[in-house]
Amino acid sequence: MDMKVIKHQKCEICGRDFSPDRRIGSRQKVCSNLACQQERKHRAQKNWLKKNPNYFKGRYQELKEKIKERSTKIENAKSHKDNHQQNIQDEITISKNKLLPIMAKLDKFQDEISSRITSIKLHFSAIADDIQDELTYL
Ligand SMILES: [Zn+2]
Repeated sequence: MDMKVIKHQKCEICGRDFSPDRRIGSRQKVCSNLACQQERKHRAQKNWLKKNPNYFKGRYQELKEKIKERSTKIENAKSHKDNHQQNIQDEITISKNKLLPIMAKLDKFQDEISSRITSIKLHFSAIADDIQDELTYL
C-alpha cells in the first residue's frame, strides 16, 4: 500500500493548490487548468525565444530571401510571358502590315478580273448579236 501522500503544489499561474501528475511530480509547476496550460506554453515559448534570440532572425532573413528569390522568379517568368506576348503581337502587326498591301493588290486584281469578264461577256454578246443578225438575213 502506497502511503506516500500526494504533495500539493501551488500553481505558478493561478496560485491555486493542485495535485501534480504522479509521472511529473514536483516538476509540475502549473495546474491542469486549460488557461494555465496555455499560459505555461506561452511563457515557455517566450523563455525559449529569450534564450535563442537569433533563431527566428536568421530564419526570417532566410525566409525573406527565399520569398524575394521566388517573387523575382515569378516576375521574370511574367516579364518573359509579357515579352512573349509582345513578340506575338509584333509578329501579328508585321504580318498584318505585310498582308494589307497583298490584300489591296488582290482586291485590285479581283476588280480587274471582274471588269475583264464583263467586257468579254459584252464582246461575246455583241458577237452573238451579229451572228443572230446574219442568221436573220440568210
Ligand atoms: Zn493554475
